[in-house]
Amino acid sequence: MRLDDEAESQNVEDRRGGGGGGGFGGFGIGGKSIGIGTVIIALAASYFFGIDPSLIFQGASVIQGQPQQAPQSQAHRPAANDQLTVFTRKVLGNTERTWEHIFETDLNRRYAPPTLVLFSGATPTACGTGQSAMGPFYCPGDQKVYIDLAFYDELRQRFGAGGDFAQAYVIAHEIGHHVQNLLGVSGKVDAARRRMNEAQANQLSVRMELQADCLAGVWAATAQRANQALLEPGDVEEGLKAAAAIGDDRLQRQAQGYVVPEAFTHGTSEQRVRWLRQGLTTGDIRKCDTFAARQP
Ligand SMILES: [Zn+2]
Repeated sequence: MRLDDEAESQNVEDRRGGGGGGGFGGFGIGGKSIGIGTVIIALAASYFFGIDPSLIFQGASVIQGQPQQAPQSQAHRPAANDQLTVFTRKVLGNTERTWEHIFETDLNRRYAPPTLVLFSGATPTACGTGQSAMGPFYCPGDQKVYIDLAFYDELRQRFGAGGDFAQAYVIAHEIGHHVQNLLGVSGKVDAARRRMNEAQANQLSVRMELQADCLAGVWAATAQRANQALLEPGDVEEGLKAAAAIGDDRLQRQAQGYVVPEAFTHGTSEQRVRWLRQGLTTGDIRKCDTFAARQP
C-alpha cells in the first residue's frame, strides 16, 4: 500500500505502556463468578476479529472485577510512533474519510468514526476485559476497536498472512463491525441471537462476520477509486490470503484436526475470501447483504 500522503487519524487511544493494561484478578457477573472454561470458550469464539466477547457471556452486560496492575514488559513496549503505529493511524484515517464519503453519497447520513485502542496484554472495555489472545475485536458498547499490534506477528508467522494490506484488512474488518453498529445491524443480530439455539446463533454470527469482510472490501475499493495509487500489485492477494488463513474450517483443522461446521462463527476460508472479494469488486455496500443470501 502507498500511504505517504494519507493523514493520520486522531482517533487513536494508545494504552500501551504507562501501566495502562490492567489485568483482572478474578471477575464475576452480578456476584456470580464465571468459570475459567467459559472464559476460554468466549476467547476462542471471538478469536479472529470477533465482535463483543460479552455476547458469549449469556447477555451479561457488565463484567466486574478488581483491576490489578498488569506486569508490563519494558523490553517489548513499542514506541508510540513506530512504523506500525503510524501505519495503523494512516489506515484508520483513510477509513474515516472513505466511510464518511460512502455514508454521505450512498446513505445520506453522517459517519461517526470509532476510536481505535492500542493495547498490550489486557485492557478494560465496555464488553468486558479485552485480551490480546482474543485477536482484534470491536465493542459496540463503547464503539471502540481494540487491537494489540503483536497480532500482526502472529498473522504473519503462524498463519502465513503477512503484508501491509493484510494488516489493513484486519482494521477494515473491525471498522466494518462499527459500520454494522451504526446501521443498526448489530443490534438486530444480537436480539435475534438471544432467541436462538447455539447452532442457529452461530449461523447468524457467520453472516455478520462475512458482512464485515465484505464491508472491508467496499472500503478498499472506494479508497482505491479516490486514490489510484493506494493499492499496489499484490495487495489484494495479500488480503484474500489473510481472509483464507483465518477461515473457521482451516483454524479448526489446525487446532483439533477436524471440522465442526455447527461451531463456525466467522465463516469458512472460501466464504471469507468470496465476501471480501465481493466488496472489493463491487465497491457497493448494497452488495454486502449476507443476511439475504440463501447460502452466505
Ligand atoms: Zn469480526
